[in-house]
Amino acid sequence: MIIDCHGHYTTAPKALQIYRDAQIAALGDRSRSRTKGTLAISDDDIRESLEGAQLKLQRERGTDVTIFSPRASAMAHHIGDVTTSQHWSEHCNDLIHRVCTLYPNNFVGVCQLPQSPGAPMDACIRELERAVNELGFIGCNLNPDPSGGHWTSPPLTDRYWYPLYEKMVEVDVPAMVHVSSSCNLNFHATGAHYINADTTAFMQFLTADLFKDFPTLRFIIPHGGGAVPYHWGRYRGLAQDLKRPRLDDLIRDNIFFDTCVYHIAGIELLLKIVPADNILFGSEMVGAVRGVDPETGHYFDDTKRYLDCVTAVSEPDKRKMFEENARRVYPRINKRILAVA
Ligand SMILES: [Zn+2]
Repeated sequence: MIIDCHGHYTTAPKALQIYRDAQIAALGDRSRSRTKGTLAISDDDIRESLEGAQLKLQRERGTDVTIFSPRASAMAHHIGDVTTSQHWSEHCNDLIHRVCTLYPNNFVGVCQLPQSPGAPMDACIRELERAVNELGFIGCNLNPDPSGGHWTSPPLTDRYWYPLYEKMVEVDVPAMVHVSSSCNLNFHATGAHYINADTTAFMQFLTADLFKDFPTLRFIIPHGGGAVPYHWGRYRGLAQDLKRPRLDDLIRDNIFFDTCVYHIAGIELLLKIVPADNILFGSEMVGAVRGVDPETGHYFDDTKRYLDCVTAVSEPDKRKMFEENARRVYPRINKRILAVA
């Protein structure tokens, strides 16, 4: 079985964006009450949105299950307040739940959290519990920078985040470290903000004892770990200078990288540097880069093709990346897939 650990509902029916636009417009009108409102999307709308996109690509590329979450760039936690984020997250997560119910063989859910800059973790904890216990989700996306590019929150290793980590450990789900859109003109969302955040999160983990406090807490750093694998020597050297653990000890049970790197040389580097136990196959389709690479004639985000091409990795290691690691890092997936089978 081939499990893609990183997919977003980027093709959601238009009604979702119409809801969001109205929600944002209402923020400027204090006379309007803060109601959650409703979303008019039919099952056929959902089918239509997926059949020509994610489902078609799964079939064409030969992948089986996608760990599926709401569109990351649309989380936009910097807009409005925690109530805004809560209503928006609940709708987005409910929609993912409907996708997973319509296509239980193809999708397993991961939730968006109702984060808001400076807000306590309470709303996130409630939504995580709802998503896991009521919707059958197996993980969450955690935005290390809900300000959208201004980095006003404490580092991920700060006690500010601990109540959420306690809940994650309790329900045994990991988080993918995933920023959203950028409202800082310096940082292009998918080209800079995403990669910056991946790199930043790794350095935060390296410099603190978070995993001593939470030995079973697990994070997936997406987009191949940002700049980390390419600069592994720098981080190894920094860890040594700072009297921190060796990197392979640091990441072993707690930090994982996906394969959302859109060229073969980058994948080869990732596979050479990061232990096979810490790599999960992911494509982020349909997502950040949608075009065809003129040098290969294949889609940039067809990352399975790159892994298939690499000959320096053993078949057992490929099995880990395609399936076994995902089952270990997202243990709740085992029940979901088994239930379908
Ligand atoms: Zn993503």
